[in-house]
Parts: sequence; structure tokens; C-alpha cells
Amino acid sequence: MTSVFFSPKLSPTRGREERKPLARVRKRAWGEGISRSFTCRCVQVLAGAVLSISGALAQEPPTVAASIVPLQLIAAAVTDGVSKPLLALGAGQDPHDISLRPSERRTLAEADLVLWIGPALELPLVDILKGETDRLLTAQDIDTLLLLPAGRNVDPHLWLSLGNAEKIAQALAARLSQRDPAHAARYVENQARFAATLSAVRVEARQRLEALPPKAWAVYHHAFRYIEAEWQLPPALALTDGNGNMAGLRTLLGLRQDMQHAGLACLVAEPGVETAKVRSLLDMPQMQVQVVDIMGVQQTRDASAYARLYIALIDAIVDCAAQR
Ligand SMILES: [Zn+2]
Repeated sequence: MTSVFFSPKLSPTRGREERKPLARVRKRAWGEGISRSFTCRCVQVLAGAVLSISGALAQEPPTVAASIVPLQLIAAAVTDGVSKPLLALGAGQDPHDISLRPSERRTLAEADLVLWIGPALELPLVDILKGETDRLLTAQDIDTLLLLPAGRNVDPHLWLSLGNAEKIAQALAARLSQRDPAHAARYVENQARFAATLSAVRVEARQRLEALPPKAWAVYHHAFRYIEAEWQLPPALALTDGNGNMAGLRTLLGLRQDMQHAGLACLVAEPGVETAKVRSLLDMPQMQVQVVDIMGVQQTRDASAYARLYIALIDAIVDCAAQR
């Protein structure tokens, strides 16, 4: 497969680790040069301390903590070569049903910038992050973002709109450039490169969907509204709603009928979903369950990870549609 997402990286990553020793050497040189001209030892110590503090402030890029993996992947594209974004809500957290561990509270408290979806998804964070406007980038509040309704709420899976991903990256690059002018050029350059990657993703996704457009399709968890909207796919039949709540018995019976009518033999599901349970709920023993890493937890957190995540989802939809 010759695709931009699987080819080796064109530009070498100038990591934070690589630059650190250089910065440290330079800092020491400044301190020594100035301290020689002072005779009083107290002044010397004080000057050294002030210099090392201001040096650290100038050199350490702000730490970004993303609430969930898909946002971490977008952030990784923006901070590429400057810093590595942290993940606030660790493995095993269901973003629709968060219960915060102490280490996760600490990550949220210590980050210079927290990138999260907003109350539509991480409701328990609302109280914790209240009043922290300077430290927060709330995706669902970004201007001109596409927000689709899910019942009476906003569908929180908004990172699955390519346009939204681009706007989130833009907003993040702008905020980081303000906070960290020393790396502003790099953030802006990274963001432009991410936008170009998204254009390539759009082309690639269109090709794959046009080859086999799904007429009807089914998912375990209804996380795909933004993909449906982007590609004018028919609404997926879903076993659970956008918040991960299982359909009631009557809905389930209707669903089973719809799936049989549509001749569906495959359903897209996230890792951890029990295939046997799905088959028995639907009373469709032959049902294929196409597992895909919806949250991207298996992805290496590099600048093209979001692109790989998106294409993997498109592939899962297409592969499922091929099984009839
Ligand atoms: Zn979800």
C-alpha cells in the first residue's frame, strides 16, 4: 500500500530530549560567565538561581494534556518536535463513564494546557476544571466547529469530522504559540502539515468508500455520526447509543429486523465487545464482528497517528460492507 500514512516520515523529528543537553550546556555557560564578574558569593548564588529559573522558563515548552487518545493524536501532530502531549484519562477509562484516578487528577492539575472535548463527553471534568479558562482548550467551544445533535445533546465524537480535527489543531497551535513564542513557528508549521495530511486523508477515504459504498451498515457503539455526515452514509444501525447505553428490548428487536432486512452480515465494534454476546442479542449466529480500534489506543502517538486512525475506521466500514 503506497499511502502517505504508512510511508516513513519525511522530516526527522527533532525531539525535546535531543535538544535538552545543548540547552543545558548553554545555560551553564551563561551562569559561569556572569558569576565570574561578581565577588560576593551570595550575589553569585542568587544570580545563578535567577538565571536557571528564567532559563528553564524560556526552554521548557508547555505541557499539553489531552483528555482522550484521539485528541492526544491531534495534539501530537501540532507539538511534533517540540513536546509530547500527555494523556489525562488513562487506559481502561470509558470516556462516557469516567471515574478519575489520583494520577489522572494530577496530570490534569499539572498540565500547562488541557485539551478536552467539553461537557458533552467528559462531564466529571467540568467541576475539576472550573474557572481554569487560561489552561483549558475546550474543543466543543471552538468557533465554527461542526456539532451534530445526538438526541437532546451534542454528539461528543466530534473529532471524527476531518474539518473539526483541522480546527482543533488550528486552535491548539494558536494557543501554544501564544504561550510558547519560542516554538511558535514550529507549531504553525506542524499545523499546516497536519492540514495537508487531512486533505490527503480526505482523498484516500473517498477512494475507499467509492469503491464499496455501504448502503446499510451496523455498529455496536454509535460513535460514527460525524463520519456518516462527512460521507453521506446512511445512518448506522446501532446496538448502543452515542453515550454507550444499550438499546432497550423493543429497539433491539426492531434492529434485528432491520439488519435481517438489509441482509447485513457484519457489524463494526470497538475492541473488548463480546462477539458471542452481540450474536445472541441479535439472534444472528453468523454475524461477523469487525473489530476496530475506535479510540486509537493502539496507535503510536506520532504526527500521522490521527490520519491512520481515521483511515482504519473507514477501512473497517468498507471491509464490513464487503461481507454479505
Ligand atoms: Zn463514544
